[in-house]
This record gives sequence, C-alpha cells and structure tokens, in this order.
Amino acid sequence: MNPHFDVAGIGAGPFNLSVAALLAPLGQLRSAFFDKRSSFDWHPGMMLPGAKLQTSFLKDLVTAADPTSAYSFLAYLVAQGRFYRFINAEFSHVERREFADYLHWVARKLPNLRLNHAVHEVQPGQHGFTLHTSQGEMQASQLVVATGTTPRVPDWAKPHLQARCLHTHHYLAKVPDVRGLRVAVIGGGQSGAEIVLDLLSGLRGEVASLTWLSRRQTLEALDETPFCNEFFTPHYVDAFHRLPMARKPAIVERQKLASDGISPETLKALYQTLYTGNFLDGEAPRLRILPQRDVQRMDSHGNGWTLQAHNGFDGRHERIDADVVILATGYLTSVPECLAPLRDRLDLDSEGRFILRRDFSVGWDGPDNQRIFVQNGGRYSHGIADPQLSLAAWRGATIVNAILGNAHYATGDTPLPIEWATRHEESTVLEKAA
Ligand SMILES: Cc1cc2nc3c(=O)[nH]c(=O)nc-3n(C[C@H](O)[C@H](O)[C@H](O)COP(=O)(O)OP(=O)(O)OC[C@H]3O[C@@H](n4cnc5c(N)ncnc54)[C@H](O)[C@@H]3O)c2cc1C
Repeated sequence: MNPHFDVAGIGAGPFNLSVAALLAPLGQLRSAFFDKRSSFDWHPGMMLPGAKLQTSFLKDLVTAADPTSAYSFLAYLVAQGRFYRFINAEFSHVERREFADYLHWVARKLPNLRLNHAVHEVQPGQHGFTLHTSQGEMQASQLVVATGTTPRVPDWAKPHLQARCLHTHHYLAKVPDVRGLRVAVIGGGQSGAEIVLDLLSGLRGEVASLTWLSRRQTLEALDETPFCNEFFTPHYVDAFHRLPMARKPAIVERQKLASDGISPETLKALYQTLYTGNFLDGEAPRLRILPQRDVQRMDSHGNGWTLQAHNGFDGRHERIDADVVILATGYLTSVPECLAPLRDRLDLDSEGRFILRRDFSVGWDGPDNQRIFVQNGGRYSHGIADPQLSLAAWRGATIVNAILGNAHYATGDTPLPIEWATRHEESTVLEKAA
C-alpha cells in the first residue's frame, strides 16, 4: 500500500521548512515534505560573498510562533558554539551564507523531510490526494504547496538564453569569465545591484565595460523604516486580505520599494566602490548606470548582442552592445505544473493567480476536509509580505493551526494605532449621508 500522510508538503524551501518544523514536535499528525533536490539548498546561484539577509535573523522559521522551538536561529547559534561571538560581532544584518547554513541545519534535523522526491503530479481522489513522485506514489489528506518561484525572462531575451545570456538565478553556477568583455546587467533591484558589485570586484575577471540598465527612476532604496515595516505584520496582512480583490494590485504596485528596492547598505557599498575606484585607485570609470531604460529588443550581433532601450527620461532610444547579458529581471509566481490536473478546479483570478483564503488555503471544488494550502503564491491575496521571509513563522503557524483546527500556535500581535481600513460606523454614516 502507498504511504498515507495527514499532511504532505510539496517543496521544502524556507517556507515549507517552517511548516515542517512547526508540525514536527506535535506528533499527532503524520507529515512528509517532499523536495526534488538531492540536498537542501537556498538560492545557491546568488550566494554572493558578503550578500546580506534583508530580514532580521529573529524572523527565522519558527521564533515568532514558538520561541522555544528547537529549530530557531538562536538554537542553531548555540548548537554551533557561536552564540557569544555572534552577539559580539553586532551584525546589523546576517550574511545570507549564514542564514542558508541555518536552513541546512534545520533541514538535516527535521524528521519529516524527504529529499530526492520530485512531485510530478497530484491527482485528487475520494480519500485524499495521490502524489506521483520520482520515488513512487504517496497519499495525503491535505497539501501544503510551496514550490517557490521561477526566473522571469523577458520575451525579448528568451531566444538568446545561453552561456553568455543568463538569469541571476544561475549566476554563480554559470557566470562566464568576463575578462575583457562588455557586460550588460538588466534590472535595478537588489539582485541587479549585487551582481554589479560582484562584477566590479574583479572576482569574475576585469570587465571591459559594465552597463546597468533599469526601468526605475534611479537606484531606488528599499524602505526599511518602521512604518513601512508595518506592511510585514500580521495586523496589516489581515487588513489587506479583507480588501476586495480589485483594490489589491494597485496597492501592491505602490508598495514596491518596501520589498523590492536596493538595501541602503548595498547602495552605500556601490557608491563607495565607485568613489574609491575613481579617486583613490585612479581607474577609468567602467560602469555606466542607465536608469529609466526599458529594454525592448535584443538582437544577435557577431559574438554578442545589441540591446535597444527606450529612455523614459528624454524619450529617446539607444543601442547598447554587450558580449554578456545578465538578466536581473526577477521571478514569476505561477500554479506549479504538478497541480495541472487540479488547475480547473482551483479558485484562480483572471490572471491565473491563486485566490487564497485568510488561512492560505485555496478554494476548490473538492471535499472541504481535503485542503490545499499555498505559500509564496499570495502576493495579491495577502500582500507584499507573502514572498518574503518576514512572516514565514507566522504564515507557517497560521497553516498549522488551520490543519489542526485549533489555535495551537500564537499568531496574534499587538497592533499599532494605525487604521488601514475605514471604521465601520464612520463609513456607514458618511455613505448614508451621500
Ligand atoms: C537571491 C534571493 C535572496 C532573497 N533574500 C531574501 C531576504 O533576505 N529576505 C526575505 O524576506 N526574502 C528574501 N528572498 C525571498 C524569499 O525569502 C525566497 O525566495 C525564499 O526562498 C522563498 O521560499 P520558498 O520556500 O517559497 O521557495 P524556494 O526557496 O524557491 O523553495 C522551493 C522548493 O521547492 C522545490 N520544488 C519545486 N517544485 C517541486 C516539485 N514539483 N517537487 C518537489 N520539490 C519541488 C524546489 O526544489 C525548492 O527547494 C530572497 C529571494 C532571492 C531570489
């Protein structure tokens, strides 16, 4: 007989590791979290030297829901014998390398993780779901899907993807020796900035030139200030979730810099690198920063490419020649392929995005007790915190509580006196008057 689990996780990146870690000590539920990787990894292509986590280390997989958990970042520090050294080092942000090592450590300790299990297809049945995996069939009553995102490659770049035209997702695995080459980086977010800094460091060879194109007004900073950080609280997510769907995309768009700007630390490092290069090392400037450029075409040209961009500043068009093109063009969220047999039965909006309930389950026309929870698929249901680590523990706890049917983990927090939504009684009075 196929193994039967009460809960099956598809994907074991940080978000499902959180659910797995919160379920592990409970005992009463049989759970398994499947990942296609043969060993745990976290964005290895962007594990650049010195790259920092953009979130407090206290916002780890479990602490916000269970500060006594054996899977916390602090438990990791103690287990590694570096608690006091870590405190004395006074990092404002920890390196991504260290957080990745923490995630590895959790993955190794978890009893309910099954690596080397690609889930190819999920079929609904009367008594639960059948998961067709690379290691055979499994049955599960409830699913938690967290398969991550996929690199967004603009249409004009798709025909050109090859060794010298790559997405940042594959950067460290595939970046060629760029010595003497003209490199173009497309995309003005954090990944673009990290790649530019990495290329300027000379670690990949000395570039002949580096051109950085971005649609943004200038190099725009991530807003990490306190009131902006309120978007990453349970209280805000609740208020956002209650909004009508039609209002949400415009709000998400306006909040871009709260999640997708360049960290002030990275901006300063970049500015200082340029200063040192120009004035202290006497280097000829190798970097051109081209903001407000919308790349519209890419054509092969000898061994390289010609990019055509529209400049939103003066309305003109320009050509950029490059031997290497690096796409820092972000990621896409979509319904994972393994859910294809269920796709027509899921609540999706007109853009094909999940419509998630408050507890992160997606509505479908199957039995109510067979629920499908989705993580990292709810930017337009739950807001900009959804693809971020900030609320991973809270989200994990919300899902575990929903699975258990009781509030086992604390998910509340005292709100700021900030009123996102109109007070009910005031809107009623005004609307009646109008
Ligand atoms: C370079 C980078 C840095 C980031 N840094 C931060 C940060 O500092 N702070 C922050 O808040 N957010 C950050 N983020 C955003 C977010 O935290 C990460 O993207 C995070 O990895 C999302 O976790 P996830 O579990 O949803 O997806 P992923 O980490 O992508 O994990 C998904 C997992 O699912 C597996 N999988 C996929 N399909 C299947 C299948 N069919 N069967 C089995 N397994 C499958 C994959 O192998 C993978 O292991 C960063 C994102 C990137 C790209």
